[in-house]
Amino acid sequence: MIPRFRPSLDWREIAAALTPPRRDDVERFERSFADLMGQKHAVAFPYGRTGLMLLLEALGLKGKEIICPAYTCVVVPHAIIYSGNTPVFVDCKEGEFNMDLDRVPEVITERTGAIIATSLFGYPVDLDRLADIRKRYPHIKIIQDCAHSFSAEWKGRPMQREGDAAIFGLNISKIITSIFGGMVTTDDDRLADSLRLIRSQRLKKPEIIKSINRFIYFISVYPAFWGPLYSLINVLERLGMLDRFVKYYDDDKITMPADFLDMLTPLEARVGVTQVRKYHQIVSAKRANARAVLNQLSNIPDVDVISFREGCTYSHVSVLVGNRHRWLASCMDAGVQIGILIEYSIPYMKAYRTYGQEAYPVSKYCADHVINIPNWRGIDIEDLIQRVIACQITDISAQRT
Ligand SMILES: *Cc1c(COP(=O)(O)O)cnc(C)c1O
Repeated sequence: MIPRFRPSLDWREIAAALTPPRRDDVERFERSFADLMGQKHAVAFPYGRTGLMLLLEALGLKGKEIICPAYTCVVVPHAIIYSGNTPVFVDCKEGEFNMDLDRVPEVITERTGAIIATSLFGYPVDLDRLADIRKRYPHIKIIQDCAHSFSAEWKGRPMQREGDAAIFGLNISKIITSIFGGMVTTDDDRLADSLRLIRSQRLKKPEIIKSINRFIYFISVYPAFWGPLYSLINVLERLGMLDRFVKYYDDDKITMPADFLDMLTPLEARVGVTQVRKYHQIVSAKRANARAVLNQLSNIPDVDVISFREGCTYSHVSVLVGNRHRWLASCMDAGVQIGILIEYSIPYMKAYRTYGQEAYPVSKYCADHVINIPNWRGIDIEDLIQRVIACQITDISAQRT
């Protein structure tokens, strides 16, 4: 079976993991990440959400309203709430996955502290519109959520530099990974200093047991993506038997992982450095695969495709389909696992109903109709396209007869 994602890991990451720890492993990772993103500072965290939470604190925001997309990863509003602030949601722009920036001014109040602009699935935020908002409301902080986009570009301008700071997620499903982990980048010296200070006050040094657990988790990722075992894992996953490992949210709870205040381990930092070196190769492979897939899919009825965009990093190839259930089933029969990231619109989740101020129809539609087609580096993309197209054509003609 072709898995919905697969991290780009080989012997280099194993070698990095097995290298004896050095005192400055985390600093080295931060340095290489800052260089990759073309920024002055990178500050590492155990999760992206921990980074966001402490970034809001470092920006001096408390009791404020933080504007974020209705359609994004649920850990974002979790972090906002854990930082002592309130999320305010904005629907997607019609025909896109990203938040509608034209609607942001409608929800700005005197309590607004920051706007989280997210380049979902790697689709770059419209930086011209964002610049207009910054000009009109210079006191409001801008945070770029680059967890999917990393260095996506809008008209040649990289995302991460257009705001006060950017956050990144580095778990095993992201473009590059440090096993778990997150990063905050900024060009602002004072902000970087206060973020480091807050981190030293709030995060515990990881215990040896955390490194051991991370190592076991990391080693088990290698065989898990091997074909036959992956098929078995897929069955267990569908039966809900792996929820403890793969489920990252509850519809009705606002929580954080037990170790969200334990610092990133040196082991993870060493794996992260190795991944930073592969970033450009990974993104160009994902882009090329996305281009090939989107070209073919645009010919299939029942699929809404955003046409290929050069600056997009394509962390996921996401499209909207009429009947998602049938797509998942027929692709599975053809040996292709389709993802359904992100399958919720946050203000409709039980835990967030009281935060939603209005209706969010576009994000609701995306949540119900999105699918992601595998595009990881190393995939046999022609084989994938053949399988997906063939099963959709059979499926469509079966419905007609
Ligand atoms: C993954 C992700 C994050 C950060 O997630 P962590 O699991 O906390 O590292 C933030 N925003 C988005 C949109 C994400 O997908």
